[in-house]
Amino acid sequence: MRRRRYNRAAIIRLGNLAIMAVERTLSIIKPDATRRNLTGKINARFEDRGIRIVAQKRVRLSRAQAEDFYAVHRERPFFADLVKFMISGPVVIQVLEGDNAVALNREIMGATNPANAAPGTIRKDFAVSIEANSVHGSDSAETARNEIAFFFAGSEICP
Ligand code: GDP
Repeated sequence: MRRRRYNRAAIIRLGNLAIMAVERTLSIIKPDATRRNLTGKINARFEDRGIRIVAQKRVRLSRAQAEDFYAVHRERPFFADLVKFMISGPVVIQVLEGDNAVALNREIMGATNPANAAPGTIRKDFAVSIEANSVHGSDSAETARNEIAFFFAGSEICP
């Protein structure tokens, strides 16, 4: 079996016992993937690694939502194209839950640019380009909390 790389911050130590922390992270299946009917194949990648999809909705983002969600990239040269891409079709927004879910999801997704993504990752197998790279995943536990709250009320998350 492949060894998983765990984020040390997600491991709680109790004396000699190391307990993995159950985390939640935000995932978005992007328009290039929904267009090619890949939602089920991508969800299988998560579930096969022990991640539970505890909330999920398929929506069309408004321009304002996409701009707010990616506000951290507002000054980047690709911002306008990224927003245009994210509103070009439906997305599937999800809350993923599991041990070390933030880092594990980033590992399952692969590098931003599919040309650099490891074999067997979602982006290596499905992404079209550095922009149309099939999935979004929160990059830290703190970002995850903010991104989940951006899209979901607590009552919509059903573990
Ligand atoms: P991520 O956390 O791996 O999604 O990567 P980033 O937070 O750096 O970028 C957010 C998203 O912007 C990426 O997933 C891509 O969809 C897009 N993006 C990142 N870098 C580029 C780029 O150089 N060109 C274009 N067109 N899009 C990019």
